[in-house]
Amino acid sequence: MSHGFETLAIHAGQEPDPHTGAVIPPIYQTSTFAQDAVGEPRLGYEYSRSANPTRDALQACLATLERGPIGLAFASGLAAEDTLLRTVCRPGDHVVIPDDAYGGTFRLVARVAQRWGLGWTAAKVSDPDAVRAAIQPGKTKLVWVETPTNPLLGIADIAALAEIAHEAGALLAVDNTFASPYLQQPIAHGADVVMHSTTKYVGGHSDVVGGALIAASTNLGEELAFHQNAMGAVSGPFDSWLTLRGVKTLGVRMDRHCDNAERIAAYLDGHPAVSQVLYPGLPDHPGHETAAKQMRRFGGMISFRVTGGEEQAVRVCNQAKLFVLAESLGGVESLIEHPGRMTHASAAGSPLEVPADLVRLSVGIETADDLLADLEQALG
Ligand SMILES: *Cc1c(COP(=O)(O)O)cnc(C)c1O
Repeated sequence: MSHGFETLAIHAGQEPDPHTGAVIPPIYQTSTFAQDAVGEPRLGYEYSRSANPTRDALQACLATLERGPIGLAFASGLAAEDTLLRTVCRPGDHVVIPDDAYGGTFRLVARVAQRWGLGWTAAKVSDPDAVRAAIQPGKTKLVWVETPTNPLLGIADIAALAEIAHEAGALLAVDNTFASPYLQQPIAHGADVVMHSTTKYVGGHSDVVGGALIAASTNLGEELAFHQNAMGAVSGPFDSWLTLRGVKTLGVRMDRHCDNAERIAAYLDGHPAVSQVLYPGLPDHPGHETAAKQMRRFGGMISFRVTGGEEQAVRVCNQAKLFVLAESLGGVESLIEHPGRMTHASAAGSPLEVPADLVRLSVGIETADDLLADLEQALG
């Protein structure tokens, strides 16, 4: 199909219902489906863990947006990650993860999968040589990459890492949560599988938890689909419907997230209480050129460090009013948090520990002047 992104977000997988003409795919809130005869399920639907029409609509839409043949929707981003790890890896295998991975990803690998015999190495994914050095030939089955990374907004070169992973016989998985498929489509750069926490930008309204995997090949997609059913961490019909409603506006939301983030990054960059702004859209960001090569724009996430240390970082988070003090990201409303004590507290004392003077913003789509005024009073 040659349609543009916004058209696909609204229409892919979402034909009007053939029976009623309903324009929006209904919420098929049913666990089971009547069969026409023994061994003859109608339209292939038997049981909603295996397949459900509302989830199918979401899965088809996400696959189209990420340009892969097969998409799968899960109960959460971590459920998607767990399914991927256990599809691709066996005890004794090894994975490479970012040295500033999302805290939950780190916890899943280091505290859960490791107990089942999975080895791992944390590497700086913005440095291709560091990733190459972390690979254990023959053992490494998966190179796991976030770009931009959370919360330090590092940029990984997807095409370069795909080549490095493939040379070693490993797959490249990209957690595309921060960029969303509107800003970045990793399969086009050589990734084998894309993962989303659809809880964030894809859903976009902070009202549903979900995850997704999109495979670049039918083979991998079918193996993942087998495990999705066998392991059972599926997205329910109502959650799938909410996510599908959110995804329709992804393009317009992302453009406004980017507009607002660009203004806020420029403001923070010149602020005397701010020692460093981490935003890939700033020309002096070390990953700026790579980001410009593989992203349409630079996203709605900004982290910054303050001159007054941990105490001031915590105070800024507490003082903000319009920016809601909360974990998560990617919703229409702006959020602020202290990664060291909140989202990344589980990484304390590990190689993934984050600086204590760091503040993370998820810039929403409110009026930019209101957001700037709120930061001004919180920093002041
Ligand atoms: C939130 C998040 C996850 C985990 O997703 P859940 O939906 O919370 O399980 C994974 N990666 C990134 C980058 C995230 O922000």
